[in-house]
Amino acid sequence: MTLKEILQNAGIAGAGGAGFPAYAKQAPGADVFVVNGAECEPLLYTDFTLIRLFLPQIGAGADAVVEAAGMKRAVLGIEKEKAKKLSLVEGQSIGKYTKIHLLPDAYPIGDEISLIYETTGRVVTPGKLPITAGVIVGNVESVLQMYAALTEGKPVTDKWLTVAGAVKEPTVLRVPLGTPVKDILSYLHIEIPEGYMLLDGGPAMGRKIQPETAVVKKTTKALTLISPDTEAALQRMRGEQSHKGLASTACCQCTRCTDLCPRFLLGYPLQPHLMVRAASCPNPNLELLKTATLCCGCGICETVACSQGISPKSIIAGYKAKLRQENMAFTPTPDRDYAPLDMRAYRKVPGARYATLLGVGNYHRIPSKIDTDFVARSVSIPLSGHIGAPSVACVSVGDKVEKGQVIATPATGLSLPQHASITGRVSSVTKDDITIENIERKAE
Ligand code: SF4
Ligand code: SF4
Repeated sequence: MTLKEILQNAGIAGAGGAGFPAYAKQAPGADVFVVNGAECEPLLYTDFTLIRLFLPQIGAGADAVVEAAGMKRAVLGIEKEKAKKLSLVEGQSIGKYTKIHLLPDAYPIGDEISLIYETTGRVVTPGKLPITAGVIVGNVESVLQMYAALTEGKPVTDKWLTVAGAVKEPTVLRVPLGTPVKDILSYLHIEIPEGYMLLDGGPAMGRKIQPETAVVKKTTKALTLISPDTEAALQRMRGEQSHKGLASTACCQCTRCTDLCPRFLLGYPLQPHLMVRAASCPNPNLELLKTATLCCGCGICETVACSQGISPKSIIAGYKAKLRQENMAFTPTPDRDYAPLDMRAYRKVPGARYATLLGVGNYHRIPSKIDTDFVARSVSIPLSGHIGAPSVACVSVGDKVEKGQVIATPATGLSLPQHASITGRVSSVTKDDITIENIERKAE
């Protein structure tokens, strides 16, 4: 079997980001494999914990991918402060081809484009994929999944995540995919106070979820509880109309949002102040709007830059969604050399400062508890927990399934299979998910 087939059969989707199928990143022309160990989102310690527990396996996994894909080397990028806590140093070998690369303690240094520049010195051409710069990126947990697939033929059945924020004891735990979030909260004795918000992800880029119905997906890296008076919560409460209203009345075009935008600082033609101005223009320039697809959604423009309470990020997200519907994207100028601006070195936002501005600095604690004992009573495995076409169920209600068994096959085109994350009996199959009841053990 080829590397691509092994990664697809194992159902591996990017564990730390948008859920792009790992097999689809494999293409000829890459010479560097960049392992993303930078959890620049405040409060998250999932990758940190995995590096602490499984460094040799991460090195071996990266080596295995380098060999199977015919690449030359791999680097594990991790922020300096975290590396120090793990006694890792610049250039340290963790495998035959894999070395540690220390990153600045800045937000959003784990953004794929920033990470590639920091670890390789290459700028991915705006609108193009990392492979065009000879790079493939994989999250730490994805690399462990690749290692398990390559060495033991194991598919993805579990997920590691940090439970953080307004909780008594931040915890990193491993749970089966599809575990109901409410079962995790109950297991950890966490009650959500009135008005508090639960996020799938960290306080900067996490998505607000309903604890009663949400489940753990392949992309779930954290469950973060935030109080309603934090800036992180307030940002999520402001509606699109309020953003547009502020943009057209309060923006003084100071350009600070552009000056601090990490993508602009890498030489990308993304200028949030122009996007904000376009919000009050009846016929904005389409080529300008297309630069919205270059935004990584980090929120620096909103949280750090704008003193008027405007969210360029939200306005840009609106443009992005419309462009996606129309199947339009930014097209780079042929032969143009996109290079970082000199001022980039002086305009990085320290991670701790970002946490303070989001109002979550007081929640910060390194989780002392690592839990691998959780037993799921039932799981509901999403069929579209990855980028691409939803998987196609191949089991029926009443079927008994073993952990690791294929329960959904990939659809045509970009897609992944799904595997049973527990042994049990299928109790429901819908167009969205497959539910399995644990018939062996009950959750505690
Ligand atoms: S920082 Fe705020 S006020 Fe300044 S240009 Fe950007 S959106 Fe407008
Ligand atoms: S969210 Fe704002 S700062 Fe971040 S990449 Fe997008 S425009 Fe730039």
